[in-house]
Amino acid sequence: MYEVVIGIEVHAQLTTNTKLFCGCSTQFGDLPNTNVCPVCLGMPGALPVLNKRAVEYSVMAGVALDCTINRTSVFSRKNYFYPDLPKGYQISQYDQPLCLGGGLDITVDGRSKRIGITRIHMEEDAGKLLHQGADTISGSTHSHVDLNRACTPLIEIVSEPDIRSAAEARAYVETLRQRLLYLGICDGNMDEGSLRADINISLRPTGSDQFGTRTEIKNVNSFRSIERAIHSEVARQTALLQAGTPVVQQTRQYDDATQSTRPLRDKEDSHDYRYFPEPDLYPLTISDEWITHIRSQLPELAEQKAARYGELGLSQFEIDVLLSDPSVSRYFESVTALGGRPKDSAKWIVGDINAAFKETKQSFDDTRFSPDRLVELLALIESGKISGKMAKDILVECITSGKSPAESVAASGASQISDTSELTQIVDKILDQNLDVVEKVKGGKSNSADFLMGQIMRETKGRAKPDLVKSLIADRIAAR
Ligand code: ADP
Ligand code: MG
Ligand code: ZN
Repeated sequence: MYEVVIGIEVHAQLTTNTKLFCGCSTQFGDLPNTNVCPVCLGMPGALPVLNKRAVEYSVMAGVALDCTINRTSVFSRKNYFYPDLPKGYQISQYDQPLCLGGGLDITVDGRSKRIGITRIHMEEDAGKLLHQGADTISGSTHSHVDLNRACTPLIEIVSEPDIRSAAEARAYVETLRQRLLYLGICDGNMDEGSLRADINISLRPTGSDQFGTRTEIKNVNSFRSIERAIHSEVARQTALLQAGTPVVQQTRQYDDATQSTRPLRDKEDSHDYRYFPEPDLYPLTISDEWITHIRSQLPELAEQKAARYGELGLSQFEIDVLLSDPSVSRYFESVTALGGRPKDSAKWIVGDINAAFKETKQSFDDTRFSPDRLVELLALIESGKISGKMAKDILVECITSGKSPAESVAASGASQISDTSELTQIVDKILDQNLDVVEKVKGGKSNSADFLMGQIMRETKGRAKPDLVKSLIADRIAAR
């Protein structure tokens, strides 16, 4: 039997407006090669200038992952050739990184476990190759180079080989992503490459304290792929070891179509990169005061929000959905700040609003149905003007038309009927039309009363106040 050993390197793009060493925009999706300058194009003689905001974000990550922040760290050149790297080297950090020795708690199947973090260092991203006629370089006729992404700030977060299963690996990347999202330093968008994971995997005989030879699966870009890639690589290595064939240290690529990994290149050693200190940048020094300041300004993290929402009486499911993205929890918190009751607000956000926003492709940050509209809707329900059922329709109407809930109710004339004398008349009319059913109810058949209720709702187009109708039916039948 073998034990699975996994360590993960996560590259996270920082959400600064400009690049790490120049003033070019980091905007995703702009026309190729429009956000470039001599520095990020790697022109000879162009000098890098370090982006202070990127350093601040990196320190935030270090503090929020319990790392030690090195008061002095050093940028180094990592030399290699690739068409997306015009300078011929990447500016990274090597033997003196910004952060050392932290950890992240994850929970799998209700059990919590701490995954050690070896280091966090800062580096610049490379450009992007767009292979023509195929998804990968093999099989393509030619490739385009887009250098908009070159020199975008990244942090690389390296875990200890503490992870023992695909489920733990997934939980680690999910928890880490959420931590960065709530810090507001990374948008976590895996499709756009803002968060990429390299998964290192090895096997060893259960009980052994030696590590086996690892392979590294590069740039896995979804949670599902992380699990699948690990399953397939573990199966491959198991088969090799059982056949007595040694695992070759290798960089591999996962292909979701075949759900298998294939070799990309033999794993390089760090001496292959000829690292040396970047001569165009001073060592990075950070004061104690700045770290203290950054620590004091840290936003509330997802775990802290979860605990607070729990105290408000929300279910675990509701908490998970509200925390699934900072825009959702921001929305929820605006609604409650405006007076929405937490439990009711959460129920609507997690249910109907979430579904309606998905369907109409609106985001919680940018929607016509702003938090004050939900507060208005909740107030209409609470005052008895509309029923919960009517509110669902009004919600959809408001989201599509942009009307406020009150406007929508006024326009449709669809307020709830809660006037007792008006409802009594309607109840009497329906009872007169259904004398046989009335007899059944008198004889003890309670589901016949449901039929009467249905008729009254039909008559009032769903606007009658249900609990009032229910008691009126009982009263009026008893009075006959
Ligand atoms: P690099 O990939 O740059 O050569 P490292 O040696 O620092 O870097 O290792 C990178 C990652 O590989 C770390 O997350 C580490 O935990 C993990 N790792 C190292 N050895 C093993 C191993 N034998 N099995 C699984 N993961 C490993
Ligand atoms: Mg690596
Ligand atoms: Zn530039």
